[in-house]
Amino acid sequence: RSERRPLVAGNWKMNGLRKDLVEAEKICVAAAAGEAGEAEVVICLPATLLISAAPACHAAGVGLGGQHCHGEPKGPFTGDLSAEMLRDAGASYVILGHSERRAGHNEGNAAVREKTRGAFRAGLTAIVCVGETRGQREAGDALPIVGSQLTGSIPGEATPQNLVIAYEPVWAIGTGLTPTLRDIAEMHRFIRERVGVDLPRIRDGIRILYGGSVKPNNAADLMRVPNVDGALVGGASLTAKDFMGIAGVY
Ligand code: PEP
Repeated sequence: RSERRPLVAGNWKMNGLRKDLVEAEKICVAAAAGEAGEAEVVICLPATLLISAAPACHAAGVGLGGQHCHGEPKGPFTGDLSAEMLRDAGASYVILGHSERRAGHNEGNAAVREKTRGAFRAGLTAIVCVGETRGQREAGDALPIVGSQLTGSIPGEATPQNLVIAYEPVWAIGTGLTPTLRDIAEMHRFIRERVGVDLPRIRDGIRILYGGSVKPNNAADLMRVPNVDGALVGGASLTAKDFMGIAGVY
């Protein structure tokens, strides 16, 4: 763990108008004041806010991320954004394969892998999300499902610098439910082992985040689980108070 810097990343999803940048600015002020301790702080904003947020984030050492990108650098893809465009707008991260994209936009593992390649090409760090549904967990399939998502979604060019993995059980996202600490420990150990089989050179360095109903009141317990190298935070990343209450555990 010592060589893996904890990462606390916020996912604003489709939330945020320009007036809400005051929260992003408060996050920057708090992070610059050392409130996140040793953790790296990243906020993945709607693409429309990236350019406006960039000066304060860059000055504070807070990373900016997008929430999705197309795999190609440019071209006839109306409504899409390339990794190069996110980078040009000030981002250094992009979330890929979030369950809301996998389910709502039919993104399969191969598509996530192509987009992740696009992120690498543009110099972005991809936060690739994996996680089982409630039905898959109840059927005892959580580990094999996550295993096949990892093998199918992660390109061979991955390094601990250009890739972060986020384990987000679909049934824990936005529900207030979390797996037991024991189940999280089992899954995170499994993910590191599986990455070790597929890409042995990144096994020990890759950061594995937990995501799904992380709040200030459960973050300390969740972040102490072995092989949990930080959090991907949805709802609680929208206010500086809650988000820094989570990042503050480091
Ligand atoms: C997410 O969607 O990435 C997420 C973790 O959401 P929440 O924290 O709201 O469960």
